[in-house]
Amino acid sequence: MVLAQLGGSIARALARMKDATVVDEKVLADCLNEISRALLQADVRFETVRDVKANIKTIVNLDALAAGTDKRRIVQKLCRMLDPGKPAFTPSKGKPSVVMFVGLQGSGKTTTCTKYADYYRRKGFNPALVCADTFRAGAFDQLKQNASKAKIPFYGSYIESDPVKIAVEGVDRFRKEKCDLIIVDTSGRHKQEAALFEEMRQVSEATAAFDQAQAFKQSASVGAVIVTEMDGHAKGGGALSAVAATRRPVIFIGTGEHIPDFEVFDVKPFVSRVLC
Ligand code: GDP
Repeated sequence: MVLAQLGGSIARALARMKDATVVDEKVLADCLNEISRALLQADVRFETVRDVKANIKTIVNLDALAAGTDKRRIVQKLCRMLDPGKPAFTPSKGKPSVVMFVGLQGSGKTTTCTKYADYYRRKGFNPALVCADTFRAGAFDQLKQNASKAKIPFYGSYIESDPVKIAVEGVDRFRKEKCDLIIVDTSGRHKQEAALFEEMRQVSEATAAFDQAQAFKQSASVGAVIVTEMDGHAKGGGALSAVAATRRPVIFIGTGEHIPDFEVFDVKPFVSRVLC
């Protein structure tokens, strides 16, 4: 949710710069200030915001702009700059990977878990879904329904309230069933509460604890971002802000409410989305 709002602010700032007849120092400064404000409001660390701002300043050549250089290049440069340049985790067929989904409540986690599972099932993987969201009433039913619609095995509990216990049981069961991509949906909160992070840490540690396989460790340690609601008003702003906030690569984007509304993140179409 926060990312979607943040994305909206950044997209608006970029759109204003794109629409300006002349991009001079003032237009650029206004845009940078707006982006910085949005990032700070979303609790991105001050140092990160300062670096992002400084980096953008150095890549934008005002003289070239004054000479009438295409403004689209600025946006392209922004995207390139915000690419963290780290390879993203990708699961390997036949090797057990556990992927944990983390995000604020309403950000699209439960929907995206199924989209992610379905994407890899189509690629020949044997995925499974575990509902470790014991906080939000209805999360269990929602994921179960999504899973059955997509014909993906599901594990969860109506009565157990300990998310760590459910995650461990679910991962254990699906490892025995030789699933090679075990996706754990976790609970979100309205704010980035300390308790939520502690819960995430416990689930992550507990599910990693009983498998020392290299692939498993990699999957537990390497983070990546999926930006949802790319079909909404925030457009590319969400991706830009997600990378800036986490310094992790964006791997997929959600483009609608349904399971097939899911695309591999690719810079070129992304850039054109930001521009249109
Ligand atoms: P969670 O609380 O993080 O698990 O969020 P949900 O998966 O329940 O999603 C919240 C709402 O956002 C639901 O109504 C979803 O259908 C919707 N949603 C999720 N992803 C997308 C997306 O990519 N585009 C659009 N338009 N809606 C989405």
